[in-house]
Amino acid sequence: MLTTKEYIEIEEQYGAHNYHPLDVVITRGEGVWVYDVEGKRYLDCLSAYSALNQGHVHPKILKAMIEQAGRVTLTSRAFRNDQLPLFYKELAEMTGYGMSLPMNSGAEAVETAIKLARKWAYQVKGIPRYQAEIIVAEGNFHGRTTTIISFSTEPAYRDDFGPFTPGFVAVPYGDALALERAITPNTAAVLIEPIQGEGGVIIPPEGYLKKVREICTRHQVLMIADEIQTGLGRTGKLLACQHENVRPDLVILGKALSGGFYPISAVIADEPILGLFQPGDHGSTFGGNPLAAAIGRAALSVIREEKLVENAAVQGEYFLEQLSEIPSRYVKEVRGKGLLIGVELKPEAGGARRFCEALKDHGVLAKETHQHVIRFAPPLIIDRSTIDWALDHIRTVLTM
Ligand SMILES: *Cc1c(COP(=O)(O)O)cnc(C)c1O
Repeated sequence: MLTTKEYIEIEEQYGAHNYHPLDVVITRGEGVWVYDVEGKRYLDCLSAYSALNQGHVHPKILKAMIEQAGRVTLTSRAFRNDQLPLFYKELAEMTGYGMSLPMNSGAEAVETAIKLARKWAYQVKGIPRYQAEIIVAEGNFHGRTTTIISFSTEPAYRDDFGPFTPGFVAVPYGDALALERAITPNTAAVLIEPIQGEGGVIIPPEGYLKKVREICTRHQVLMIADEIQTGLGRTGKLLACQHENVRPDLVILGKALSGGFYPISAVIADEPILGLFQPGDHGSTFGGNPLAAAIGRAALSVIREEKLVENAAVQGEYFLEQLSEIPSRYVKEVRGKGLLIGVELKPEAGGARRFCEALKDHGVLAKETHQHVIRFAPPLIIDRSTIDWALDHIRTVLTM
């Protein structure tokens, strides 16, 4: 085995530099823990941006994956397979939406929702062809395709990548009035995150999602919630919109839909909307393959059987409360819902990066999001004593 330094040198030489990772080279994961090539153990407080809600290498999902991989992995949707129907059914039973459409990455599912909203606009709402507009929020993160970065407001995601896809309008996040004012007869949909994860764990004002829902209903506009990061238990509800008893027309899922084993995403909605897609309208060679479906079924069953939604609520409340009590001269605000927590540092703290590096040296892996926010989002299987262990180290680093 090579040393940490050697692995990093090879990676920097041969790989594109489109990330700025912490210098830890992980070779093994188990539950909430990962181990680097030197044998050092770390608590994973990022969970691969919430893809690992079930923890690393969950034995039940691993078993389902190995069994299915030995049977059949890919049929393409040209033929049917015996896993996809059951994945559809179990996803519907769990989320309360009638139908779903499986894709691979989160960005592909966002693209799917955009296409569906546009088709609905022309076929159902009667918007003149190719005039449909979708309202998004400033500070959004929905993925990295050329269309999606067209409506990003983050220069780093967008600059140098135009020309941009038209048909999107950005309004301030959390401001329902601004959103309503942006609606025109050509508005097809509103696309928002219930909490902006990549934007810095930005929680909108209480009642915002409810107002967005009312506005969308009043103007015959689809409400699309990107729950790729907030969904599947992360915030202490199965879907973060449920904190305000809001039911969007379309919900986009990804990340934890496979528990970290495989790229699986989906758009979920009811038949009057998702039923608009006809053969040929949309597709993916790998989307809905039997390996993905078997893994997705196991990932959902772990969320249900291990009561991860409930655990996220309980442990998240404790973690947030304890983090808020750390007497640090660097901290501006601690905010979060469930186990999606952001610690925003004051500008004079010199950026979150150096704190993440110090945390790493203490065996806690967290990542800065934007310049001044440390995100804490451990797997939802975490228990109280592990949180206490993490808090000891976080306290040390934030009061250094
Ligand atoms: C991660 C993420 C995406 C993109 O998912 P990928 O699988 O990286 O394409 C989209 N929206 C939100 C809210 C995300 O957190």
